[in-house]
Amino acid sequence: MTTPTARLIETEYRLGAHNYKPLDVVLSRGEGVHVWDIEGNRYLDCLSAYSAVNQGHCHPRILAAMVEQAGKLTLTSRAFRNDQLALFYEEIAALTGSHKVLPMNSGAEAVETAIKAVRKWGYEVKGVPADKAEIIVCANNFHGRTIGIVGFSTDPDARTGFGPFAPGFVTVPFGDIDALRAAITENTVAFLIEPIQGEAGVLIPPAGYFPAVRELCTAHGVTLILDEIQTGLGRTGRLLAEEHEGIEADVTLVGKALSGGFYPVSAVLSNSEVLGVLKPGQHGSTFGGNPLACAIARAALKVLVEEDMIGNSARMGERFMDGLEGIRSNIIKEVRGRGLMLAVELDPAAGGARKYCEALKARGILAKDTHGDTIRIAPPLVITEDQVDWALEQFEAVLRD
Ligand SMILES: *Cc1c(COP(=O)(O)O)cnc(C)c1O
Repeated sequence: MTTPTARLIETEYRLGAHNYKPLDVVLSRGEGVHVWDIEGNRYLDCLSAYSAVNQGHCHPRILAAMVEQAGKLTLTSRAFRNDQLALFYEEIAALTGSHKVLPMNSGAEAVETAIKAVRKWGYEVKGVPADKAEIIVCANNFHGRTIGIVGFSTDPDARTGFGPFAPGFVTVPFGDIDALRAAITENTVAFLIEPIQGEAGVLIPPAGYFPAVRELCTAHGVTLILDEIQTGLGRTGRLLAEEHEGIEADVTLVGKALSGGFYPVSAVLSNSEVLGVLKPGQHGSTFGGNPLACAIARAALKVLVEEDMIGNSARMGERFMDGLEGIRSNIIKEVRGRGLMLAVELDPAAGGARKYCEALKARGILAKDTHGDTIRIAPPLVITEDQVDWALEQFEAVLRD
């Protein structure tokens, strides 16, 4: 007899492309930090849809804003104006201290948009010869899945078999200021980097790296683009992860939690003249900036701030990190993180993180293995002390000797 769970998994496998290998749990409901599978089992979500659900599943205030707006007006295209876009601009600009905003849908689209804008800026403002613009990126980056983006990935899974790729990208090691200095030329228009490399396993660069990056970029007229699609909007215990470094990017990319997980909403935020180079007809998106997206994003930002989720991320992150560091285990190689963006790297001898994620699932925690040996931990930012302590008990049970 096949269970409903088995039947849905079999159907997915038969009809779907196999571009993911999910844990075998079929979810049908979410509320706050919890999700439930179709058999009624409850789990603590320690992935938060890769930090898209920072505000917690089905946050009631975001839901109400979505339902209200969906009954009024959903899409006009940018051929006409809508009454939500200006308010979204006003609120996100004030919150992040940005001067210009360009709304898109997925994170990858925000990355592509920034690449187009800095190239054009390079030709029109910096004076780079036509088609010679160079953008410096980091090894082990993750910026999305388009052809443009995977072309400058260093992950063989992400890029192999998908070429030919666009030229104009130069790769340097993450966290290596000398390599960045050596890579900058007269034609360098931008340096694109994640403040913390999430997909690579929550890698934090050495102290002093980002201030030095900021200085180099300013000195050479290079646009500093921070991809905060995962690190931004409270995940690291600050609104933007750049605040930990005491720097400001020229261009900041946000997505994921910009909608609290209700809808794909991303944005390019700019402190500089970069977005000013785009003129009518030169870039766009049918859904980008639509009134439903704007109403949802406005509510998602509002609850993040008004319900002190950023402060809670800092406090609960510290508690979680302290607890993980206190687990006595021979198989833990390192615990890293900032705020509620945490990772436990296991010793390669432990045989990979996947089986520990399976064991956590059996104990009611959904977490994701990344790059073989690392368990990534990123619960919604609304997690409470009791929930952190309960989660720590489960991690201890699974990881202790
Ligand atoms: C998730 C992510 C992206 C891509 O976002 P999509 O919405 O999946 O296109 C880009 N950059 C970073 C750092 C991300 O974590």
